[in-house]
Amino acid sequence: MMTLLTPEDYAQELLVYCNILNDIPIEPMHICEKLHLEVQYKPFESIEGVLVNRDCQTKIGIRPNHTYPARTKLTLAHELGHLILPHHTKYMYQCTSEDISSYRPNNVIENEANDFAAELLMPEELIKNDMIMVQPGLQCIQHISNRYGTSLTASAIKYAKSVNFPMAIVQTKVGGSIDWAYSVNNFKYVERGLVHYSTVAHNYFFHNQELNGTPQLVNSTAWHPCDHGHKLIEETVSFPNLHTTLSILTIPE
Ligand SMILES: [Zn+2]
Repeated sequence: MMTLLTPEDYAQELLVYCNILNDIPIEPMHICEKLHLEVQYKPFESIEGVLVNRDCQTKIGIRPNHTYPARTKLTLAHELGHLILPHHTKYMYQCTSEDISSYRPNNVIENEANDFAAELLMPEELIKNDMIMVQPGLQCIQHISNRYGTSLTASAIKYAKSVNFPMAIVQTKVGGSIDWAYSVNNFKYVERGLVHYSTVAHNYFFHNQELNGTPQLVNSTAWHPCDHGHKLIEETVSFPNLHTTLSILTIPE
């Protein structure tokens, strides 16, 4: 029986091909050098990365992010995904920051490039060991982010894909409305709209409190109004430069 390969499978093949699996943190630029692929840094305005792939011309353009160098790496790994994944056949991909740094359920092609990038930078085979050694939740996500040189958001999504317990990652944007949520293992739906006043994230948007991810118990209705009588652990970090927060939601044991 033929088995369909996932974006993660292609990333693992590339890591083996480039013989780079032991060089942590993995630098996608080293992979581009091994592939003799031209990469140019460009001051794009509205896009973060471009892949041009025509018959005799393959090159990647990246907008460098000096504030968040992890984003530059992620963008490069994402464009490599468009190059390597076999059904990404357009001559050109122009990817915005929304394409690269968020989870949008309907954006299949961009999510595939993100899954590829996440596996390339944070191979599951390696992070499984980190997950055994480090306290679960935000602490482990921060450990992954530090060890692999990846953004907290990309590390959080990769972490959520690797655990076997219910949890959600929620990004809340400027003005305090929920931008996107990614739930796994039957974690209940997170209500969209303005973030509820009894969430920790609310304190950043409406009380100007910077949030460092300290775990706090909140009522489940804070994140899904129809689920009464339970508690959740919320760990929320604020990003003042971006005016966003990232919340990790888990269920207490
Ligand atoms: Zn893309």
